[in-house]
Amino acid sequence: MNYRHAFHAGNIADVLKHATLARILVHLGEKAAPFRVIDTHAGTGRYDLASARAARTGEWRDGIGRLWAAELPDDIRGLLAPYLAAVADANPNGALRHYPGSPLIALHLMRPQDRLVACELEPGAATALAAGLRRDARARAVAIDGWTALNAYVPPKERRGVVLIDPPYEEKHEFARLSDALVGAQRKWATGIFLVWYPIKDRVGPDRLAAVLRRNVTAKGAPKVMRVELEWAIAEAPGPGGLAGSGLVVVNPPWRLAGELRRILPALRAALGGAVGGRAKVDWLAGEP
Ligand code: SAM
Repeated sequence: MNYRHAFHAGNIADVLKHATLARILVHLGEKAAPFRVIDTHAGTGRYDLASARAARTGEWRDGIGRLWAAELPDDIRGLLAPYLAAVADANPNGALRHYPGSPLIALHLMRPQDRLVACELEPGAATALAAGLRRDARARAVAIDGWTALNAYVPPKERRGVVLIDPPYEEKHEFARLSDALVGAQRKWATGIFLVWYPIKDRVGPDRLAAVLRRNVTAKGAPKVMRVELEWAIAEAPGPGGLAGSGLVVVNPPWRLAGELRRILPALRAALGGAVGGRAKVDWLAGEP
């Protein structure tokens, strides 16, 4: 486990992932019944953008750095408000210094009746995560393998909720593992929303994941599956983290999410300016409404 999210926190990929997570949480919060958030690869929860690690890559400057300073149309600012409010919450002095990871974004948008299980295996990150969540009774940090957690904590007792699956893709077979684990977990929790992040280095892994999910759709009672991709460079000239782009798969997306992301994506591309060059798209792998 060499991956350290501190090098990448707040980059373009994080912005897309966390803005989408925030919209999902907003929709979950529209009904009074409690929901559950399961974060299988949670990271430390909070990142210092002035740290040596963040400074070494400077990736956050082309991500949250640009978005924070951008002039946004009112409707887009409204859609991004829950996400930007979570970032603001991590920066009580007003200046952008810290970036909230997925567990803090979730907690910001959860109500008293909602619960978070945040899993992290790397010992340093797990200790930091546990310390950061200790005082919030809604949250539980667990030092456990995320794939084991997915099997152990799904389904939760709540009918509604979201599982964020955000592994580091350090291992060669992580895409294959992800496809199998996702299909299995979705069968166990048919009403749950699953949000999966993936890197785009080439099309092999992303297209294989899409093929598995499309095949699964032929199964009885298969869910709707939405895909979101943002490519910011060509593969020969990779962008942040050596990536050409990043993608998300959302299983069982809230019904308004696709329309929202179709408005958010072009605005994000504009706000992130020269940092994003390539394609942005939202499409359906299964069950297009
Ligand atoms: N979800 C976080 C966020 O959005 O703020 C970022 C997570 S980062 C991309 C991936 C994390 O997974 C790293 O903190 C890494 O230490 C952790 N990790 C690596 N292997 C793991 C495993 N088998 N189980 C759980 N966590 C793991």
